[in-house]
Amino acid sequence: MLNKTKDETQNALTPGPLFGLPLPELTALVKGLNQPAYRGKQLHEALYRQRVASLDEISTLPTEFRELLKAEGYTVGLPEIVQTARSIDDTERYLIRMADGETVETVWMPDGDGGERGDGSQAAEEEEKEEQENNSIAAEQNPAAFPYRRSTICVSSQVGCAVNCQFCLTAKLGIRRNLTAGEIAGQVAAVLNRHRVELGSSRGNPTPARINLVFMGMGEPFLNYANFIAAVRLLTQMPIPESRMTVSTSGILPGILDFAKETVRPKLAVSLNASNDQVRESIMPITRKWNIAALLDALSIIPLRNREWITFEYVLLGGINDSLQHADELIALVSGMRCKINLIVWNSGPNMPFHEPPQSAVSAFQKRIIAAGIPAYIRRPRGRDIYAACGQLKRTVEQPPQLVELTTV
Ligand code: SAH
Ligand code: SF4
Repeated sequence: MLNKTKDETQNALTPGPLFGLPLPELTALVKGLNQPAYRGKQLHEALYRQRVASLDEISTLPTEFRELLKAEGYTVGLPEIVQTARSIDDTERYLIRMADGETVETVWMPDGDGGERGDGSQAAEEEEKEEQENNSIAAEQNPAAFPYRRSTICVSSQVGCAVNCQFCLTAKLGIRRNLTAGEIAGQVAAVLNRHRVELGSSRGNPTPARINLVFMGMGEPFLNYANFIAAVRLLTQMPIPESRMTVSTSGILPGILDFAKETVRPKLAVSLNASNDQVRESIMPITRKWNIAALLDALSIIPLRNREWITFEYVLLGGINDSLQHADELIALVSGMRCKINLIVWNSGPNMPFHEPPQSAVSAFQKRIIAAGIPAYIRRPRGRDIYAACGQLKRTVEQPPQLVELTTV
């Protein structure tokens, strides 16, 4: 059931979108068209640093070569934002269309989302505070230069999802296909272009925007591992450092084992969501394949870097996993691990047999974990009114939210 997805890959020998190809492939491509190798670098720079939308914008390439590329059938091939909805909290949700017409959703959260940073260590809090102070001084001096100081983009990895977690709206779509590396990284490029974000410092841009990425949109990144990790590598070229990226998995063991071996990798968040196998099985059927003990075992082999923690996400479902007894079980499971807990109050969806726990239960649960010496944060829900909060990324086209007007751009 899980491995049914067609593996979508890109390669330079088949004309089509260039966005997504790494430098060696771009170099092979230009050489194949009798061009000097440095044209590969120029293409790379234009695609990932300048984030051009069309071949015509690549002024470093001679016109004849651009025409040749077009005649051969190459395009930049950035995915396109076709619908956008803006929340009262300034979160924006986009419907992004791929070349074959499939769509996914991507979310922009200005000023980030404290809980999603995926670290939560005191050092990170301090770094952030200092950064905010510096930025506000600079912004006062020149407000136009600081439209977005810090933002988080939530990225999708598949069209739909096969994992079938009972509380998740994306699950209702089933799996349609994997995204290519270019389609994953391309969501970020499309959103950054929309907001005219300049990354990387230069003389003209001494204080670049700080963009965080969370791979927490539609899909299970570790069931599309090769494309996901290739996208991470492309994104680091843009440049977004991998230390500012967090990937969330529902606990796909082979993916976790591969991830543990990567030298360039984001931080890891794991959707635990239950404190014992019985409850987890009832809400996350994947537990039957890999139970909690096997999952924690696999996590223990990840070599954590300096100041790195594993984040456990725990969606609180009223009456199902939110009692103090569950909190105690959770503490027993994770104590001794370098981790923190992100508590996410369940975001409701139509016709789903769950309910949001009362605020009192949420704070009692959090207090219990903190009292055991484990950092626990309650994740601020973003964009609830536009169905952009966690797990609410069901395709707009299929079920348009009633609360805001959608605009076609
Ligand atoms: N497939 C990956 C990443 C996308 S889901 C994963 O499951 O980890 C991102 C997070 O949203 C997960 O932690 C998931 O448990 C949570 N989530 C899903 N549906 C939710 C809902 N309705 N309310 C709150 N969180 C939800
Ligand atoms: Fe897939 Fe994650 Fe939703 Fe589970 S929570 S169905 S893994 S997107």
